[in-house]
Amino acid sequence: MKPLTEQEIRAGFVNCGKGAAKRLFVPRDLADRPWDDLDFLGWRDPQSPDRACLVAELDGRPVGVVLRSSGPSSRQARRSMCSVCVTTHTGGVSLMVAPRAGKGGQQGNSVGAYLCSDLACSLYVRGQKDSGVGARLHESITLEEKIQRTASNIAAFIAKVTA
Ligand SMILES: [Zn+2]
Repeated sequence: MKPLTEQEIRAGFVNCGKGAAKRLFVPRDLADRPWDDLDFLGWRDPQSPDRACLVAELDGRPVGVVLRSSGPSSRQARRSMCSVCVTTHTGGVSLMVAPRAGKGGQQGNSVGAYLCSDLACSLYVRGQKDSGVGARLHESITLEEKIQRTASNIAAFIAKVTA
């Protein structure tokens, strides 16, 4: 994805108020992020680990979503799969819940998905990060197809939040 500035990221949030978007934690090392290898930028707030954010480019503009996370699955020994990048982890997948944008969110509606706890899906897909699970799921699709799948899964998730 195209490198983003802090301002662009803050302006892109769709499911929180403008004030909240200004106060959100945004990583300080944006210039050093491997943008070329990212399908979306995701991070956790070091001050409140149950809060996470992700930003993806949709129709050429950055769209951000605020998430609440239950933390890594409590049953650490259980293997689970990220619904976005299809990486299998042992205890490294979290249920992330996003309030819906607009009226839906005000009425308490939310959308949930199981995601890599560190939101590093793009790097797992490209083999730059290892989930530590020995037996990788064997898939007969190419890296390019996996990247496309990850990008379209994240776009579908954001579309549910903004719907
Ligand atoms: Zn993932």
